[in-house]
Order: sequence, then C-alpha cells, then structure tokens
Amino acid sequence: MGKTIIRGGRLIDGAARKADPTDILVIDGVIAEVGPPGFPAPDDAVLFDAAGTILHPGLVNGHTHGMGNLCKGQSDRFTLELLWTGAHEMLDHQTTELKYLNAYLGAVEMVLKGCTTAYDLTFGVPFATTDDLIAIGRAYEDAGMRAVLAPMIADLSFYEAIPGLFDALPPRLQQIAAVTDRKGPEAVLGAMKHALDNWTLDTERVRLGVAPTIPLHCTDELIVGSARLARDYGVVLHSHVAESKTQAVSAFKLWGKTITAHIDDLGLIGPDFTVAHGVWLDDDDMRRLADKGASVSHNAGSNMRLGSGIADARRMLELGVNLAIGTDSANCADNQNMYEAMRYASMVSNVRGPDYTRWLTTPEIIKAATVGGAYATGFSKIGTIAPGFNADIVFLDLKSVNWMPVNEPSNQMVLTEDGTGVKHVMVGGDLVVKDGRHTRCDMDALAAKVEAAHARLAELNAPAKAIAPAFEACVGSFCMGLSRHPYHIERYATFSCT
Ligand SMILES: [Zn+2]
Repeated sequence: MGKTIIRGGRLIDGAARKADPTDILVIDGVIAEVGPPGFPAPDDAVLFDAAGTILHPGLVNGHTHGMGNLCKGQSDRFTLELLWTGAHEMLDHQTTELKYLNAYLGAVEMVLKGCTTAYDLTFGVPFATTDDLIAIGRAYEDAGMRAVLAPMIADLSFYEAIPGLFDALPPRLQQIAAVTDRKGPEAVLGAMKHALDNWTLDTERVRLGVAPTIPLHCTDELIVGSARLARDYGVVLHSHVAESKTQAVSAFKLWGKTITAHIDDLGLIGPDFTVAHGVWLDDDDMRRLADKGASVSHNAGSNMRLGSGIADARRMLELGVNLAIGTDSANCADNQNMYEAMRYASMVSNVRGPDYTRWLTTPEIIKAATVGGAYATGFSKIGTIAPGFNADIVFLDLKSVNWMPVNEPSNQMVLTEDGTGVKHVMVGGDLVVKDGRHTRCDMDALAAKVEAAHARLAELNAPAKAIAPAFEACVGSFCMGLSRHPYHIERYATFSCT
C-alpha cells in the first residue's frame, strides 16, 4: 500500500477539547507517526492534502443489526415486543444474496457517516449458515468497513421467552406461533462452530463473534455453550440484556433474579462480553459487569424509539463498566448515524435529572464511540489515532455549516455534527469516502437493487404482514400488563413507562 503523509488537517483531541494542526504518516495502512505540521516524512510518501478538515478516529458502532436495513421507517409506534410481532414483515425469505444486500446497504450508510467498524448482530434466530455469514462479511469488505459478525443465536421463540405469552394467545395465533422445526442447542452451537472453523475472511477486517441473542430466548445450555465456544475460539460475546421492562419482569418470574445475575451465574460475563442496552440494570448488575471487565453498548436512540427507558450510563462509568455507543438496527433506529447516536447519548444523560454534574461530558461520549467500542469489538488497533493503530480516519469539512465557526471541537463533534460534514473517510489507509461520496459504491445501482429487493420481500412476506395486527393486539396488551407488575422495580433507577 505504500506510504502516505497526511498534512494540513486539525486532529480532535477529545479529552483536551481541542484540535491542533497535526500531520500523520501512514505506512501500509497503519499509522507510523503523528506530529506537528511539517515533520519530516520519507521521500517516497505520497502527500494527502487534508487542509480545511478536522480529523477524528473512525467511529465504532457498538451495536447494530445489518439485517435490518430494508426495514427503516417500518412502524412509528412499537415497543421492543411489538417489533417482534412484525419482525417477519421484511426479514423472512431473504436469500444469501439479499442478506448481502441488506448488510451492504447499512455498511455504506455507516461509512458515509463516519463509522469505520460495526459490531453487527446479524441474521440468526435460530442460527446463520457459514455461507450466509461469509456473504455478509463480504458486504462489509466491499463497503470498505471492519465488522464483528455475531449471528443472533437462540433456541426458544419469542412467544416462549415471555412467561405466559404463548398461553395468552388465541388458538388461531398459537398455531402460527408454535415452533414446528425446533433447533436445539446442539444444532445451534454446531452451526456457529462450523462458521468459526471455516471462516475464510481476513479477521483484521471481518471476524466472528457469538451472540446468544436475548437470554430469555436461550436455554441455560445454549448460554453456557455459547460462552464455552467463544472462549475456545478467542472471539467476543454479545447479548441483548435488560433492554425492556417486560424482559426485566420476566427474568424475576422465571429465575427469581435479574437477567444479569442469571447470565453471570452461567459464566457468560467476562472482558469479552458486551451487553446491548442495559436499560434495566441495578447496581449489583453493573458491578458484576465492571468487576469482570465487560462492556455495555449504550443505544439511546433505539431505547427512546422503542420506549424501553433510559440507561444509566453515568452509573456504569462510575462503577467501571466499559461504555460503547451503538445505533441499533435500522428497524428500531431507522438510520445508522453514529453522530446522532452520540448526540442522543448526551441528551438522554441530561434528562435523567437536574444534577448537571452527573451528565455525560462530550469527551466521555467520544471515548465511548471510539476507544470504548474498540475494546468491545476486540479489534485492538482501532479507535485511536496514534502510532501502531490502523489508519481509520474521518476528515470533517471545515466548510460544512457544522463547523462554522469552530468553537469547541469535542462539543461540536457530539452535539453539532450530523454526518453531513463528512468529507473523506479512510479505513486502513484506503480512501473509502472521498469528497462525500463512496469511492466503490454505485449508488444508482444500489438504489435499484434495494427497491427490487424490497418489492420482492413485500410480496413474499405479505401473509405475515396481514396477521401482524392480530399478534400486535395480543402481545401489546399482555406485555403492558406484565410490565406493570411491581417485581423489584424499585431497584432500577431508570426512567421508564411504568
Ligand atoms: Zn439489537
């Protein structure tokens, strides 16, 4: 790849709240030197003119679902549980080719909006095939991003996961919701192991993780087996933990303890483990995560969108939990914009209470969206612009209205930038976005493919869409009733719909 000397830009130092003029030498996709303007560079280094830009490390999306990108704007009023009732409207009947397209669409959006690495809990439920995972991985490669692909594995259905829900359905809906081709934990873990054994992609670009998707959707055997499998292969673990109040109440009904205590007792929590959401965590839960070096991906936009509540990110940081920031899927966040996710993380922190000394600072949020996300994904050479790290660099245009004027770079990166200021994006030294355009993606061709796929899936999934309102009525009222249950709710500091 050769040598590149980036001159003329200003590098945001989040912690110091400044952006000094800085040059960067990149050799073979890795940052070799960071220094003052004009520092000597090798004669054969190619000049990259960064004049008029302000730089930050590529953002790391701590939690998304590449499978959801055809579902943006699908519904305006739905909870997490109602999302499940309509989940089949667009997700079923996806061929390997469509799964590639789905992931590629999201990856192109992310990189155009300054995100260079994604932690993608992709198609699973109950599991994904190796061929599908390799195709999805190629989508990220082709879009020029890095990713962890952790297929959502499960061996219980949504209707089995919420205690009493299946029994509450009328017989007509029970017939539809009944599992007819159950895959037990051995089959689910076997498919995951096959993918780990047969992974062909460059793991510095796209690697696998293991995601027992929601603990309520997994038998103890699957959770224990997931932890064992991930640690045997040295890959990361991820699960949606305590996202909704319905889940929090269900855990006490099933296990007499919190979801976090349950999975900790089963050995899932470690430094390689990431909680998605963590809205309904108490102090003991957070201590369990912190003591074992685990991470939480704080997905404030999704939490507001689904009315799940507001995670207490300040308390997580106080207790020592590693914090990442995520968008969540386009079917419950509607876009893949990490700048918006950072801004939401800031705003929801403020509305938790009037004590402004407990609000998240913008340097804390930048750290979470870069260094914190890097730790969660297990990619050790991303998230920082320093010698030895990959040259994953975002160049924001100082001629964008977002940066007129430059007041305080950290605040503006979190509170003003919305992705429209992204001028160039470099991943491993490759220029993936140049002058605001993806260098490899034909957007016209992509739009045509996406529209055709959408039309095809709408037709194939029409029966599921037709029955969704009947499920919505039952599931909505059942879960509202369940979430009114007072089970130990005083232990949670969260804001919520009670
Ligand atoms: Zn999710």
